[in-house]
This record gives sequence, C-alpha cells and structure tokens, in this order.
Amino acid sequence: MLEMKFVKEHLAEVQQNIINRHMKVDAAEAVRLYDKRNELLRSVEEKRRARNENARAMKGKLSQEERTKLIEDGKELKRSIAELEKNLEETETALQGYTSAIPNMAHPDAPVGKEDKDNLEIKRWGTVPHFDFPSKDHVELGSALDIVDFETASRVTGQKFYYLRNEGVFLELALVRYALDILTKRGFTPTITPDLAREEIVEGIGFNPRGEESNIYTLEGTGTCLVGTAEITLGGYHAGELIDGQRLPIKLAGLSHCFRREAGAAGQFSKGLYRVHQFTKVEMFVYCTPEESEAMHHSLLAIEEEIFQGLEIPYRIVDTCTGDLGAPAYRKFDIEAWMPGRGDGGEWGEVTSTSNCTDYQSRRLGVRMKTESGNRYLHMLNGTAIAVSRGIIAILENFQQKDGSVRIPEKLVPYTGFSEIKARE
Ligand code: AMP
Repeated sequence: MLEMKFVKEHLAEVQQNIINRHMKVDAAEAVRLYDKRNELLRSVEEKRRARNENARAMKGKLSQEERTKLIEDGKELKRSIAELEKNLEETETALQGYTSAIPNMAHPDAPVGKEDKDNLEIKRWGTVPHFDFPSKDHVELGSALDIVDFETASRVTGQKFYYLRNEGVFLELALVRYALDILTKRGFTPTITPDLAREEIVEGIGFNPRGEESNIYTLEGTGTCLVGTAEITLGGYHAGELIDGQRLPIKLAGLSHCFRREAGAAGQFSKGLYRVHQFTKVEMFVYCTPEESEAMHHSLLAIEEEIFQGLEIPYRIVDTCTGDLGAPAYRKFDIEAWMPGRGDGGEWGEVTSTSNCTDYQSRRLGVRMKTESGNRYLHMLNGTAIAVSRGIIAILENFQQKDGSVRIPEKLVPYTGFSEIKARE
C-alpha cells in the first residue's frame, strides 16, 4: 500500500507505474477521495469543537430564550455531525478500496514490459546437458522409477496432485533439509509455519482470497485460507507490531505446504510436477530497514544461487518486467533452471523468485520499526529457497542416465543417503 500523501504528490508517476504494470486502478479518483476524506475530517472536527462549546455554554447562567437557542443549536450540531460521520465512513471505505488496489512503485531499473517474455536475462550459470540417448521428461522418469504417482492421486484427490513414493520421499525431505541447513548458517531462524492463515493476513501480504481469478483456496465459513506460500505466514508473524530497530534484520526460513488453485493453468508447460495444487516449499522472509533492503534483496538472490549451484543445476537469472511483478513487489528476480524435458528439447523453468516489497506489505499489515528518530514502516522481502516439486523436476531431468537411473548431486547425498535412484527392473 502506498501512502496517499505520496500518491497525491506523485500522481503522474503513480499513474505511469500502474500503466507499466498493466493494472487498472484509478489513482486520480483515489486522490479525489483522499481530499474529500480530509475535508470531511476537518468539518467533523470543527463541528465537534462547536458542540463542545455549546455544551460548555449550557453550563453558564442563561435566560430561557438563550437556553432554548443553545438546545436547538446543539440538536442541529448533533444531526450534522452524524451525517458527516456517515459520509466520512463511506468515503473512507471507498478510499480503502482504491488504496489497497494501487500497486507498489517499481524499481527504476526494473525492465518495463508486459509478460515473462519481457523479463531481462542477467546471468547464466552451469552447462546445459546433452544426452547421447533418448532422454525422458520427469513424468516418465518419476513413473518408471516408481517415485511419483499422478494416476492414483488423480483418483483419490484430483488432477495436479501427486504421491511421492520410495526415493521420491527422501529426495523431497533431503531438499528441504539441505536448504534449511544453508539458511540456518546464513542466520535465518528455521520455522515450520501453519498451512492456514486468516484472510486479513492473506490480504495484507497482497493476495486476493476471493474471486474467480484468485489463486488462493478459501475455507468457507472459517475466515481462513490455505496458504499459497509461507510468505503469508512469515509476513504475518509480526503483523501489528512495533519492532525495536536494533532487532533488525529479522530473517526467517519457513517450511510449509503451498496450495494454489491455478485456475486456467493448462498446457504442456504446466505438465507433471511443474504446476500442481500442492507442493512443499522453504521460503526466506526478511524484515529490515529501508536503507538495507536493496542489498538484502541481492543477498537473497545470492543464497538462491548458492542452493542451485550446490545442486549442480544449470540456471539463468531474470530481472522481472513490470507487468509480471504483481502488486506488492518493487523488484523481483527469478531463477530459471534448465529443464531438459520441458518444451521441445528443453526449456528454462522458474524455480525461485525473490521480491523486495519495500514498505508495501508493512503498511498493510501495520509492521513498524522503532528508531531514535521515530517510528517508521520497515521493509519486507521474500525469496524461494527451494520449491520442492520443481527442484525434483530439475534433478530428475538433468541427471538422468542412459540406464534409466538418476544421479543425485554430491552435496545432496548426505541428506538423501543414496547417490543414485536406481532404475527398476
Ligand atoms: P511464487 O510464490 O509464486 O513466487 O512461487 C515461488 C516458487 O514456487 C516459484 O518460483 C516456483 O518455483 C514454485 N511454484 C509456484 N507455483 C507453483 C505450482 N503451482 N506448482 C509447483 N511449484 C510452484
């Protein structure tokens, strides 16, 4: 959420930012409502002062005539205050609707564009594999190795769910522990978060819990949602708090399941484990000062690189374009891993995403920091450490062997307890 004073003073920039992000919000109408709200506030205060004076005057020595006049004035003031307060409340509600829809400003270097094809590649790492045998995609590999079962899951639960079996189970647990160990060494507090959160928190983070387009499952009648990411539960952790500036940065590493409706997501690029309704993820979340958030964002990206380099998975980094930032992010970097089974002969597939949301979420959730010079909204950042189902895709497809087995990257072996997933007879 942007401060309305800022929106008013920088209206043209805010409007251009909305255009760049391909969103539709009438910022000028928000400013009109903001001015109206302020005017109404002033009027209500004036009338309240007048009513207090009227009440004081009633206590004095008065003629009958004067008393009657004051009583009439008092009644009129009461009526007009009630009317103004009603108008104020309606204006506040309308204004709230607009302010919560206005997106965060974008970093001046974020590429301006509409969709992921406009993202800017800024780095590549590793060597893309070339197989001297007919390679398989992760769906074929998962089934042949008896480690991923979509078929039974579609009968028991539905499409885009899966069972992990045998080494698939230990691969998931290994990826989680591998990522948590790296994050713990980097000063993050390991956390297992609830998989549900209150609607207000979900909204505060910037997700819409309702509507056709929403990616969030709402649990009707409970006021809660299934979390789409632990960003929600980690960002909600300090909601409404005034945090001592000395405690910053606060770095949390959260393990949760993630649930996504993925309405309308179809096609070969969403195949298998790539776009599922439930997956496990370790998420990084940081509360820090405005001064350090940009450097912190780069350090989250560096940790994501460390995780994928340790897994020996070739990847590229993209600087996300304005149209793909969503509402909360000021800047976002994605890591896309090479997935040999994707598309026609291999494609890059997003495996991590890190966003600097500056004070957009902290304003909505009321998270402030206490400093010697006063209280301020702090900055909040998030980043994927490992989204497990996509990590499994990258490992299976990149490290498949001619005999149908899959090699486990060396750094993961202490966590899996095996160095290959052997082909089944
Ligand atoms: P996001 O919170 O949308 O930035 O997603 C974080 C990471 O989760 C992405 O970079 C993907 O690796 C992964 N991811 C997102 N959506 C899905 C999904 N439906 N199924 C599996 N993995 C996903």
